[in-house]
Amino acid sequence: MNIHEYQAKALLRSYGAPVSDGKVVLRAEDAKTAAGELDGPLWVVKAQIHAGGRGKGSFKEAEAGEKGGVRLAKSVEEAAEEAKKMLGKTLVTHQTGPAGKQVNRIYIEDGSDIERELYLALLVDRGSSRVSFVCSTEGGMDIEEVAASTPEKILSFSVDPAAGYQPYHGRRIAFALGLEGAAVKQCVQLMGILYKAFIEKDMEMLEINPLILMKDGKLKVLDAKLGFDGNAMYRQPEVAELRDETEEDPKELQASKYDLNYIALDGEIGCMVNGAGLAMATMDIIKLYGAEPANFLDVGGGATKEKVTEAFKIITSDPNVKGILVNIFGGIMRCDVIAEGVIAAVKEVGLKVPLVVRLEGTNVDLGKKIINESGLDVIAADDLKDGAQKIVKAVKG
Ligand code: GDP
Ligand code: MG
Repeated sequence: MNIHEYQAKALLRSYGAPVSDGKVVLRAEDAKTAAGELDGPLWVVKAQIHAGGRGKGSFKEAEAGEKGGVRLAKSVEEAAEEAKKMLGKTLVTHQTGPAGKQVNRIYIEDGSDIERELYLALLVDRGSSRVSFVCSTEGGMDIEEVAASTPEKILSFSVDPAAGYQPYHGRRIAFALGLEGAAVKQCVQLMGILYKAFIEKDMEMLEINPLILMKDGKLKVLDAKLGFDGNAMYRQPEVAELRDETEEDPKELQASKYDLNYIALDGEIGCMVNGAGLAMATMDIIKLYGAEPANFLDVGGGATKEKVTEAFKIITSDPNVKGILVNIFGGIMRCDVIAEGVIAAVKEVGLKVPLVVRLEGTNVDLGKKIINESGLDVIAADDLKDGAQKIVKAVKG
């Protein structure tokens, strides 16, 4: 789960990290008052969307102006003006995809004087099963680009979970970032703060790009992107509160309400499968026969008829879906439950695209009987290969 920059900064501020003063604005008419509460003489007006690269992004609407989603202003009036231009407009960055994201919130910040822009991140390194620090002197820009062209400029190391964060970790980072004097001490302290926040709040990722060294020799968190472990939200009620559902794919949001493991993809074949491994195999075989999956969907082991119905409705609500493949291997999941769920969903929303159903396992005969007697126009398949070939043929001809 992701949150907005202004929320991330508030959270880090509560741990004692240095961040600028700022005000969030939801309505254009509040922009001037908000900017007026900040000191100046520089204001930064920042579009709040769950995607990075805002500074280099561009708006779809001409009225938003030529500049990207992060704008510097020299007066309260100018700051308010820029906020007004961006609110309600669609910002496209390299992370949003071509559709872009609507800007519903603006963060106005007290501007900082930048000496150097640095990069810092904490993340869960799945390879070592540890939390890793990643840092670089090349902040502010695409870290992927730095990693590809000048990997020697990135330092990365993991922290032993038993010992936790130690001051020498911070000194190692300070040295790699070329810090001197008081900034080294501040770095050691700041890294400890970030590590503590990361662990306590069940984060998956904490990225500060840029972390800046200011003209006065102090460090500051200028941008902040936090990602949390969705499975830990039950014990992080304050973080869960920060969820902005308007930033999420509506289909994924709906799926999460029914506890379905659903991820929207770009292809044309909707998949309903039980078990993550089978779901991945199904996606692979669809690709093998020349088509692309429209989603990953694991209905889970003990899905009910209601859950299956909901899953089917989510798949059919995607206009890109030109055909559906239901591939169920009944273990705990019973084939008759799947059949009933599919039929209930089709009765509710209709069936405008070809549907291939492959059932195997527990109660398979009953499942097939239910489908055959339903009068639905279903293409039956015997195994995974047959199912994939049939749906690709039905969609591509
Ligand atoms: P992103 O483009 O979405 O990553 O947004 P950032 O918050 O990282 O801002 C992009 C760039 O705007 C930064 O790399 C800085 O160069 C610039 N910027 C942001 N805040 C300030 C500020 O307070 N003062 C100055 N001078 N530049 C800023
Ligand atoms: Mg940034």
